[in-house]
Amino acid sequence: RPRVLSGIQPTADSFHLGNYLGALRNWVAMQETHDTFYCVVDLHAITMGHDPVLLRKRTRVSAAQLLAVGLDPEQCTLFVQSHVPEHAQLGWVMNCITGFGEASRMTQFKDKSAKQGADRTSVGLFTYPVLQAADILLYHADAVPVGEDQRQHLELTRDLAQRFNTTFGQTFTVPAPFIIKDTAKITDLQEPTAKMSKSASTANGLVELLEEPARIAKKIKSAVTDTGREIVFDQANKPGVSNLLTIYAALTGRSIEDLVAAYDGRGYGDLKKDLAEVVVEFVKPIQQRTNAYLDDPAQLDKLLAVGAEKARAVAAPTLRAVYDRIGFLAPG
Ligand code: ATP
Ligand code: MG
Repeated sequence: RPRVLSGIQPTADSFHLGNYLGALRNWVAMQETHDTFYCVVDLHAITMGHDPVLLRKRTRVSAAQLLAVGLDPEQCTLFVQSHVPEHAQLGWVMNCITGFGEASRMTQFKDKSAKQGADRTSVGLFTYPVLQAADILLYHADAVPVGEDQRQHLELTRDLAQRFNTTFGQTFTVPAPFIIKDTAKITDLQEPTAKMSKSASTANGLVELLEEPARIAKKIKSAVTDTGREIVFDQANKPGVSNLLTIYAALTGRSIEDLVAAYDGRGYGDLKKDLAEVVVEFVKPIQQRTNAYLDDPAQLDKLLAVGAEKARAVAAPTLRAVYDRIGFLAPG
């Protein structure tokens, strides 16, 4: 079976529809066909400044949500990044083969740091994609299921893997991105040209899996739509309506053409009302299951400890091989 690794940041009280449709539903599907490693990337979550109490809580909430959307700990390896110290250790080595200029070209860093200003931006945020490369390479992953926003980071991972292999000898698998085209980028409900994001979207632009259903319905009904009143799929000229159609199609399994035909002659209001119902019915069972996992934190922590042990069994030998190739003296 081909190997897969992917991660998600515990940077919010809930994941959003973009996370689910762009990445997580693929994580679930790939359990059947791939050897899957999934982690809650808490090391990445401290790159933008954070509250320790919230981080611990959100790490558990993240794990609970992953189980609630369908990850099965019998089938996949689910763990918390900081439980496997090899991530930080390989991250350092990868930092030392990454060019400063190369890292400076990452657009996500440019966007996030521009918002904060240089003095508030951590060096950790700058090297984030390098740590992400380490996350992936530790497991010799063949594929990485992510949203479109991660394509450039994946490209860096591939470059670093090849560079290491050429310089120090064949060590890493060069991974390929696995991006579901149709839902690679879910956009913000209020700003339909920007991606829906845990850290950048305003509350009204974001549909969270764990938020109150009545609030979700309200947000969808007040989503920004486009001029005109025809319901057509046209991402360039009608990004708002197109985003709603994308979400609708993905959650129901209906095709965009089918939806466009069904709403022919009807208004945006009808579309939003029906979509609100679809989303609410989708999140309800996820919320129930998430709460059930959170009701027993000791059991959840135990499950994550088992996952970390399975992950370490792969990560530790990779790091040993890397240390050996780069010439670190083995401890006597
Ligand atoms: P942050 O704003 O803190 O970076 P995020 O919303 O981008 O949060 P991440 O934890 O960084 O979420 O990403 C988790 C996964 O979700 C990644 O695979 C990413 O590609 C995917 N993803 C994030 N936002 C979207 C989106 N709007 N559409 C599709 N996929 C997305
Ligand atoms: Mg992100």
